[in-house]
Amino acid sequence: MKLEAIAAFADNYIWMLHDGAEALVVDPGDAGPVLDALAARSLRLAGILVTHHHADHIGGLIELLPHLRGPIFGPAHERMPVPITPCQSGDHCQLLGQNFQVLDVPGHTAGHIAFYCDQPGDANAPLLFCGDTLFSGGCGRLFEGTPAQMFASLQTLAALPGNTRVCCTHEYTLANLRFAREIEPANAELATYQQWCLERRQRDLPTLPSSLSLELQINPFLRCSEPAVIVAAQSFAAAGQTNNPVEVFTHLRQWKNNYR
Ligand code: ZN
Ligand code: FE
Repeated sequence: MKLEAIAAFADNYIWMLHDGAEALVVDPGDAGPVLDALAARSLRLAGILVTHHHADHIGGLIELLPHLRGPIFGPAHERMPVPITPCQSGDHCQLLGQNFQVLDVPGHTAGHIAFYCDQPGDANAPLLFCGDTLFSGGCGRLFEGTPAQMFASLQTLAALPGNTRVCCTHEYTLANLRFAREIEPANAELATYQQWCLERRQRDLPTLPSSLSLELQINPFLRCSEPAVIVAAQSFAAAGQTNNPVEVFTHLRQWKNNYR
């Protein structure tokens, strides 16, 4: 079983998992790069996972349909352009002999879901396909959900095993880390990780997948109970003396929305 990130658009990744013969892809916003990758590796498309309804995650579905020899698992509570097998928390999806647990993670969109595979067939660490909910060093914007919902969704993901490979759908890491360093200038892991990511991007390599244990050390949106993060949030827009993690998260998200 091999995991690959197919680049699409300006900064999307379409994750592909394959066994040398059959592949699944996650959030195919564009069919072209997927068909090219399948052809280059002589793979059949055995299934698709979809996390949410945004165009950069579903835009390739109609064009991929004639090539697909299997199911599309997607969010039960979002509108999809093609027939799907609807999924929500508690459901399990079987693809390529892998078992994916579905997690409801509302916030970026109201019906956003994530897929978690505890024991992937590559005998490597667990896999998480989290769409636009968790990014390395950041999190998705709140288009449809409340800060409290997004905070709870991130907590759900943060509770997964530390070695979980976090497969985010955008290469936003460097921009996220500039903000993270503003929040936590004294975080040494953050400085080290930023340097590593700079070198990866200079060589045009992905910074992903990340790992949950790393994100817990460097991602301010997962660190809303850390004293340094609380102090930073309090300094933003007269946020007052709050140390409530949901309020800290709310202020961080507002700050990041307008951060350049
Ligand atoms: Zn999105
Ligand atoms: Fe997206």
